[in-house]
Amino acid sequence: MLSYETILTTCTYCGCGCGILLEVLDGRIIGTLPQKDHTITQGGLCIKGWNVHQFIYDQGRLKRPLVKRDGKFTETTWEEAIEEVATKLNRIKEEYGPDSICGLTSARCTNEENYIFQKWMRAVIGTNNVDHCARL
Ligand code: SF4
Repeated sequence: MLSYETILTTCTYCGCGCGILLEVLDGRIIGTLPQKDHTITQGGLCIKGWNVHQFIYDQGRLKRPLVKRDGKFTETTWEEAIEEVATKLNRIKEEYGPDSICGLTSARCTNEENYIFQKWMRAVIGTNNVDHCARL
């Protein structure tokens, strides 16, 4: 016998945060429905929201961090990737100064994540060079 359920969650495609119900058939996500009683969006979804489930099982989806070694991307652990980024950012900052670095963030992040990112760029890196894909 097939099992079917819906799981209440939030659309991940942009920062609006529309409420959605993911349709799950036998443990596999098969569709998206709008949350009719969502306080703000009241069941409205844009075309991206209606199709948000489609990337979940996409073969091209990145699931692990990649580093470029000898011109080729290879999988690595989060610890190694973060260590490598931190080392390179520190080297660039020491050699060329904090304003040689800029940070771009994403409309797919929450307001809180974007706030933390710009704070980190200003307080840790020491630059005001921060922007967001919604402005590009
Ligand atoms: S349904 Fe559209 S507007 Fe709503 S969060 Fe998703 S992408 Fe953004």
